[in-house]
Amino acid sequence: MRYNVGMEVVTYSGKTRIGRLAPSPTGALHLGNIRTFMVAWLQMRSCGGQVVLRIEDLDHPKHKAGADVALMEDLRWLGFDWDGEPTWQSQRLSYYHTALERLRPWLYPCFCSRADIQRAQSAPHPGEVLRYPGTCRGRAIGVVSPMNVGKAALRFALSEADRGCFCDGFAGEQCRVAADLTGDFVVARAGQAAYTLAVVVDDAEMGVTDIVRGDDILPATPAQVVLYQRLGYSLPHFVHVPLVTGKDGNRLAKRHGDTRIASYRAAGVSPQQILSALARSCGWLSNTETVSTLSELISRFTLATIPKAPFVWDDALL
Ligand code: GLU
Repeated sequence: MRYNVGMEVVTYSGKTRIGRLAPSPTGALHLGNIRTFMVAWLQMRSCGGQVVLRIEDLDHPKHKAGADVALMEDLRWLGFDWDGEPTWQSQRLSYYHTALERLRPWLYPCFCSRADIQRAQSAPHPGEVLRYPGTCRGRAIGVVSPMNVGKAALRFALSEADRGCFCDGFAGEQCRVAADLTGDFVVARAGQAAYTLAVVVDDAEMGVTDIVRGDDILPATPAQVVLYQRLGYSLPHFVHVPLVTGKDGNRLAKRHGDTRIASYRAAGVSPQQILSALARSCGWLSNTETVSTLSELISRFTLATIPKAPFVWDDALL
C-alpha cells in the first residue's frame, strides 16, 4: 500500500524501508499491543515504507486456536493494513533449519531444566532475566542435524567479546556484553526454532529494515544482534518503546480489567476513541483533539513526543 503523504519516499541506500507487525497468537490483542503497533505502522507509512504482518506461531503452550484470525480482524477494525499476504512462522521452518546449520560451530546441546539454571544462578534478583551459567558447555552436537538432537535445547556459545551494540531510535545508544544479560541463549528446543533465532532469521529474510517493539525485549536484543552478525545479515534499525501499564505500574494484564480490543468493540467503544486515546498518550494529539482514522495520524507521527516513561492506562482516557 502506498500512502500519499506528500513527502519523498525515504529509503536506506535505495531500498524501501520495511517495518513489521509481529503478534504472537497467545490471545486477543490488547491496548498495549496496539500502541506499539501504531508506532510501527505510522513510522513506515509516514516515510512511504511498507509494513508486513508476521504471525509468530511457533509452538508455544499459550497459543490459542483462531487467535490469528481474531487479531487480524481487530487490526483491520482499527484501520491497520499490511503489504502482501500475512506470513506464519510455522510455514517458514526451512529458513530456521538453514540458519541452524550455519550456526553449528557455536551450538551445543543442553539438558538443563529451568530449575537447574535457577539453582546455579547466584543471587538472582526479582525480575532479572534468567542468565544461563554455561553448565553444558563443551558438549558436542555430533554429526546429526541441529534439528535432530532429540529433546535437548541448543544453546549459542557467547564469548565475552560478543557485544550487542546498536543505536536504538528511541532508547538511544546501547552496547552490552550479550553474555552478561542472557548467558548462552537457546536457539532451538526439541527440534523447534526458538524465538531469538526465528525473529532474527525472519526479519532479515523478509527484508525488514525497521523493528519497533516493546522495551521489555531490550535485554534480549544484544543476543539477537550477535546472531545478525554470525549469520552475515545487516542490522535493522531498532526502536524499543515503553510498555503500557496498569495504575499499579505493572505491565497491562487481566487483573487491570479487560483491555482487549475485541471487548471494547463488543462494548460499543469506537476505533476513533481507542486511536485518539493512544495517540494522545504518544503526544501526537492534544488532550482535546480526536482523529477518525489511523491514517489521519500519519502526518502527526514522530518518535520525539513519546514519553520515556511507561504509559499508565485508565479506561477514563477513552
Ligand atoms: N511475537 C513477539 C511478541 O508478541 C514479538 C517480538 C518482537 O517483536 O521481536 O512479543
